[in-house]
Amino acid sequence: MKICRFDDNRLGIVEGTVVRDVSAALDCLPRHGYPLPNYDPLIANLPQLRARIEAVAPHCRTRPLADIRLLSPIANPGKIIAAPVNYKKHLDEARAQPQIHHDSQVAEIQRIGLFLKANSSLVGPAEGIALQHPDRRNDHEAEVVVVIGKSGRNIGRAEASDYIAGYCIGLDMTVRGPEERSLRKSIDTYSVLGPWLVTADEIADSANLDFWLTVNDEARQRANTRDLIIGIPELIEFASSFYTLHPGDVIFTGTPEGVGPVLPGDRIVVELQGVGRMEVAVRSE
Ligand code: MN
Repeated sequence: MKICRFDDNRLGIVEGTVVRDVSAALDCLPRHGYPLPNYDPLIANLPQLRARIEAVAPHCRTRPLADIRLLSPIANPGKIIAAPVNYKKHLDEARAQPQIHHDSQVAEIQRIGLFLKANSSLVGPAEGIALQHPDRRNDHEAEVVVVIGKSGRNIGRAEASDYIAGYCIGLDMTVRGPEERSLRKSIDTYSVLGPWLVTADEIADSANLDFWLTVNDEARQRANTRDLIIGIPELIEFASSFYTLHPGDVIFTGTPEGVGPVLPGDRIVVELQGVGRMEVAVRSE
């Protein structure tokens, strides 16, 4: 199932070129008062929600995908975890270009580990990217994103697939410079998630997915998840050895070679095999 959020927090399922508005199914989610939970309630209740969606869908109208505004498919992730340098060829290009590494830690992911991006940086594709420091280099990083489906700690790689709700496309936008990654990558709008959540049952092998990125139709990045240095099950093992993972936590799995600058007015398109196509506009702040 391809589940999206759109317009004014409506819930949809994507069927080819149309979206079926299944917002009526949201009535099965628990209502939360203060304090809010530290996980995403929609993902935490995904099995019940899917059953409810299937029950209401025949009575729900459809709209063309082209006419809706896509929001982040995860509204309230507890945390956004990201893998820094997780493709060998990107490690090589980062080491070769001082304007990418700025003497910051650029080393094997096994040594430098993971980092966190602020939840306030999260947007959906229709919201676009607002460049904050236009005098500095702002790069696109296309990434496969895995969405955690249930809570766990010290999850072994062999059982990691049990903890995956689904997959999205991510853009880990980055100001290059000497500061900590969490500062440079947590600017408002610098974490784009979309175009929708594809549930795990639709992805037969997440270790063999092609994805690519263009800027104004110019090819920039192209890779396959088979080239990840630390694969998705190992990332879940690694992350959960430091943090308890909760439903709706997202893991940006790292970007391949071909990162490059974007400018206001640019149009980024990312496609991920089995998931779909995400289009994002870049503007000045
Ligand atoms: Mn990244």
